[in-house]
Amino acid sequence: MVRDILVESLSEDHIKVIDKLNKPKYDEDIADNMGMKATVVRTLLNDLHESGLVEYERSKNKRTGWYTYLWKRRDDKIRDYARGYLNKKIMDLNGKLNDETQSIIFKCACGKVPYEAAMDSGFKCNTCNNAYSEYDNSEVVDDIVGEITRLNSLLEQT
Ligand SMILES: [Zn+2]
Repeated sequence: MVRDILVESLSEDHIKVIDKLNKPKYDEDIADNMGMKATVVRTLLNDLHESGLVEYERSKNKRTGWYTYLWKRRDDKIRDYARGYLNKKIMDLNGKLNDETQSIIFKCACGKVPYEAAMDSGFKCNTCNNAYSEYDNSEVVDDIVGEITRLNSLLEQT
């Protein structure tokens, strides 16, 4: 379940990097292993670090003076990350649902307008000169409600 959420919220390359970190590894080794440039892998690792999914240990190579980074997956944080992702998506969708349901919406060829704006212009668009018709958003609302239901059930199982 958690893995499904990772797959949904991250790119394929991010997932590949997470999978490579079944044990701590250096970024160069992950890059070699994936056949990717180290700079690309570092960017992916930094994204994952920002999401709290990985951490690193930095050490200085006494011979070369360069820093090396040993990366570790935060298995203890993955569930929190998945729940946070779901909660944020649900919050965004609730906001959208609110926008869609709080007033009647009108439309013309140019797009959608709220009831008040349609009324102010006498239910006729000043741009395309067509009369506004009521916008039926029941499908959009159904879609949003369906998605919220799906995410809530994922959240319960995560
Ligand atoms: Zn128009």
